[in-house]
Amino acid sequence: MIEDSLAKKAQKQLYKAAKEINLDKNLLKILEKPMRILRVSVPIKLDNGRTKVFTGFRCQYNNAKGPTKGGVRYHPEVTEEEIVALAAWMTWKCALLDLPYGGAKGGIICDPTKLSETERERMTRRYTSEIMPILGPHIDIPAPDVYTTSKTMAWIMDTFSMMKGYTEPSIVTGKPEILGGSKGRKEATGKGVAIIIREYFKAMKKSLEGTRVAIQGFGNVGGHAALFLSQMGAKIAAVSDVSGALVNPDGLDVPGLLDCVQKHACVIKHPGKQIDREQVLYQDVDILIPAALENQIHRKNAHKIKAKVIVEGANGPTTPEADDILEGRKITVIPDILANAGGVVVSHLEWVQALSGLFWEEDQVNAELERKMVKSFQDVWKRSTQKNISLRCAAYSVAIERIAEVYRYRGLFP
Ligand code: NAD
Repeated sequence: MIEDSLAKKAQKQLYKAAKEINLDKNLLKILEKPMRILRVSVPIKLDNGRTKVFTGFRCQYNNAKGPTKGGVRYHPEVTEEEIVALAAWMTWKCALLDLPYGGAKGGIICDPTKLSETERERMTRRYTSEIMPILGPHIDIPAPDVYTTSKTMAWIMDTFSMMKGYTEPSIVTGKPEILGGSKGRKEATGKGVAIIIREYFKAMKKSLEGTRVAIQGFGNVGGHAALFLSQMGAKIAAVSDVSGALVNPDGLDVPGLLDCVQKHACVIKHPGKQIDREQVLYQDVDILIPAALENQIHRKNAHKIKAKVIVEGANGPTTPEADDILEGRKITVIPDILANAGGVVVSHLEWVQALSGLFWEEDQVNAELERKMVKSFQDVWKRSTQKNISLRCAAYSVAIERIAEVYRYRGLFP
């Protein structure tokens, strides 16, 4: 049996929730398709004088609730259907967190590790100019994702501003603070993951103290989640990144690991017992956080998972087939659209600050992040327990119901 494409998987999750809430069939016809996909050629001059042409995408999945919002990813395995699936997930995530946004995603098929900084800058600027007709602070607002950073956002902002003839900080989020970025944005996704885990343990009447956690991917999301969870008393027993994996059942030294990644861009330069990268998924731990890429837990390895709860730091790390296997094995999955929503919550605050020109202190940002994450967890938990459905199905149901309500008021143009 061949597993479905990512876009098909995203659709399957939508259909399941649509059935659960008895969604109007006509509305489902709208929600099952992306509103707009732009495919662009991105030619740049390489440092060696040759020209290279990359392919990029921007998908705006649905804008019923507001301007579309979503990251830009640089990765050799980017595909159009992956971008569509990620844009759909952004749509449901923004609705679940009750943000005034629709969902989008962008990406360029490239290996950013093989490009120099100046080549990455030229590629980012040309990509921005190619998707410019569909960008705008009230149209579509990019943010960082895999292999894009605050510096990438600064290049997008500068390119957009230069082409418009005025400085427009609200065109991107996740930008450096000096350009109007928000305090607390960098840590927000990982902090959100930790808040959701804390709330889940509270709801289960269990203590986080001493619980063991394995984390796949030690980048922005995984690294910050590790830091906040260790501060909450959990033990980070295993971590991995592209370079390999480290384990210590008594808990790894998280600040040391973060320093190591800062200095060497990999975890394995840190002292500790190394294991095969994939083995991180199968550790005997309480919590597993996949925080790298999608499709990591699938029908062929779901039976090997020993964790009692999987918290999706990454977008789409569990396939629907794996979801069914895990449900059968009574392993709880806290879905991506809830678990990793901290980033878009603070992105929204960043956008509000840039639009208003008034900037917040970090404790104000963190208090709002905390409030939004706790409220959304409670919405999902309540739906899941009342209807006896999985947390994923509950999260989708709450999100899609909100979008359906928007359509009931707005109607269908023309
Ligand atoms: P990142 O580039 O900072 O980190 C990705 C990490 O995954 C790196 O440590 C990398 O080495 C590792 N990795 C890649 N392939 C791996 C593999 N096969 N095995 C183990 N590790 C591997 O990216 P990020 O921003 O942390 O994003 C990670 C995931 O979280 C993505 O799915 C992204 O869409 C999602 N996400 C990110 C944010 C955000 O604010 N950054 C918000 C929501 C969701």
